[in-house]
Amino acid sequence: MEIKWNGIVGHEREIRRLREMLREERLPHALLFAGPQGVGKRRVAEALAAGILCGREEAPCGGCASCLAMQRGNHPDYYLLEPETAGKAGRSIKIEQVRAMQTEASRMPILSGRRVVLIDGAELMNEAAENSLLKTLEEPVGQVVFLLVTSARASLLDTILSRCMPLSFGMLEQEEVRTVLMQQGISAQQAERWARLSDGSPGRAIQLVQHGGQEMQQKVWEFLEQMEHLSMRQVFVQGKELGELSRDAVGEWLGCLLTLLRDLLLLHLDGGSMLLYHPELRERLLAMLGSFPEQRLFFLVEQVRETQGRLRTNVNLRLLMERFLIQCAMTR
Ligand SMILES: [Zn+2]
Repeated sequence: MEIKWNGIVGHEREIRRLREMLREERLPHALLFAGPQGVGKRRVAEALAAGILCGREEAPCGGCASCLAMQRGNHPDYYLLEPETAGKAGRSIKIEQVRAMQTEASRMPILSGRRVVLIDGAELMNEAAENSLLKTLEEPVGQVVFLLVTSARASLLDTILSRCMPLSFGMLEQEEVRTVLMQQGISAQQAERWARLSDGSPGRAIQLVQHGGQEMQQKVWEFLEQMEHLSMRQVFVQGKELGELSRDAVGEWLGCLLTLLRDLLLLHLDGGSMLLYHPELRERLLAMLGSFPEQRLFFLVEQVRETQGRLRTNVNLRLLMERFLIQCAMTR
């Protein structure tokens, strides 16, 4: 895939700043790309990496040996460090991975004037890995530029943060998300719909589409309709069903429920003159308002958020979802 600045949607200010620094050769040796998940931080970091390695005017030029190697994904001076899945413990970057990177990064560049190391999911470094990286950042060996990408800046050590130039990335506009989705081959009509549900994150929208978002939405909608008559038996049946899904899928399920609850709240607050996530469901949502007074909605939103937070910890999914469903059943 061709890596170029022009293909990136949004983040104009950050991109302008980076291109300027690249042109004027005043890039620091470590940069931190921080911001919400799925907004394109890594794409920007990859374009910068290609630009640093290309070294021509208006880099990346897209045609030199360095740029072609980047496009093929086998540039000898580019090192990508990503979290590895480690069974139940979830994804993490371990010290062995950092050490392997350090050995590689200390070598002389082969094709370009410098080496670039991109660390994606930097917040998933364990403590030992972080400390090891810190040593490298304090005393860089050779011509290396480090690009750290993270969606949880606060989880990184202060000492690491203080050694990196921070760049902060925001959510995209709905229109921009739509453009990204269409670039991915999604039809205009579908792109419109998913962009609305993406909360400014094309990555999230793409995940929704890939995880059968439409089917999931139907299920969540049915759940909301049934919430009135949720028996304890159903709590356990549904809890088991949800507990068997992947962590990501449960996250999507909760996210989807949240959009419906928000729409109900908006309909309460101002009759839904503001933008709804699900305008196509307006009439059906209005018919449900009586069963969902504001107090109850606020409580449910709170429960969803809390459950989303716990989802990130190493908790038993089935128990987590049962607990959540019991809370739902108790609010009526
Ligand atoms: Zn080039």
